[in-house]
Amino acid sequence: MPKTTVLISRAATADNEKRAFEDALARALSGAGLPVLLMPHVYHLAEHDAIWQELAGLPGNVACISWLYPRPTEWVLRRHAISTDLLAFDMAAYDSPEACCTAVVEKTAPADGSAGTVRELHAEVTERWHPVVDYSRCVNCAQCMQFCLFGVYELDDADKLIVRNPNNCKPGCPACSRICPSGAIIFPLCETDTAIAGAPGEFMTPDPSAKVMFYKRTRKPCPICGRAYTASAAAGNPPQDAPVCNECGLPLDNALSTDSYDSASADAGASDDLDALIDDLERLR
Ligand code: SF4
Ligand code: SF4
Repeated sequence: MPKTTVLISRAATADNEKRAFEDALARALSGAGLPVLLMPHVYHLAEHDAIWQELAGLPGNVACISWLYPRPTEWVLRRHAISTDLLAFDMAAYDSPEACCTAVVEKTAPADGSAGTVRELHAEVTERWHPVVDYSRCVNCAQCMQFCLFGVYELDDADKLIVRNPNNCKPGCPACSRICPSGAIIFPLCETDTAIAGAPGEFMTPDPSAKVMFYKRTRKPCPICGRAYTASAAAGNPPQDAPVCNECGLPLDNALSTDSYDSASADAGASDDLDALIDDLERLR
């Protein structure tokens, strides 16, 4: 059986301390007999860079060590067809390169006595911001696709939700992660919420207020009750104590007509309002 290849994802920015850690870790792992590839930052590496093809063709299993939580690292690699048995490690969780090396070696196949290697893969990278979907949680409800006004998400030929246009994502915006019912959308560089950044075992709690705001602003039909806000309904609030749809917040007593719903003009207005929506969602945290 081929040895596990260890990928070490370089830090995003020039950082001598992190670079020294990465280099010492590479030496330690190769000293333990493992093949090591130092690569550009796994999250920032461009979508169609040739490195992805090389990684997808690696024989045997892959372990990737990055400066991110393990979940986003794993799902970025899987998005690029690296679907062997994957191990992911967060370098920041270890006090020393030696401790990190020990943790990796313990989880990989026993060394066969042959020498390890170190090779560096080079590519120009610029910092990126895009969602990473954790498919172990995603239930394919497509709400993120309905929510995003920039065409980041699409359904593929098998009707599976995918991140089709990651570079369309608005930098700094983690808004769709707040409406995902499964906590499946990760923004690994989110500094304000560890659940959104993909911390192990943490779930982003969907924000009902954020959802109501979304339906009001976009006036898209609610997938649960099938109704949509009119301009007048979006401007007001339902009477207190009125039973409302748990998804969109519209009263369930048909008191609000949807006859005047105009999806084209509503969508245009929603696009104009997106910056305000994002700001409002962030204030809701
Ligand atoms: S909203 Fe969440 S669960 Fe639904 S399709 Fe998107 S990522 Fe998957
Ligand atoms: S964060 Fe905003 S722009 Fe990016 S995918 Fe989600 S909704 Fe779209």
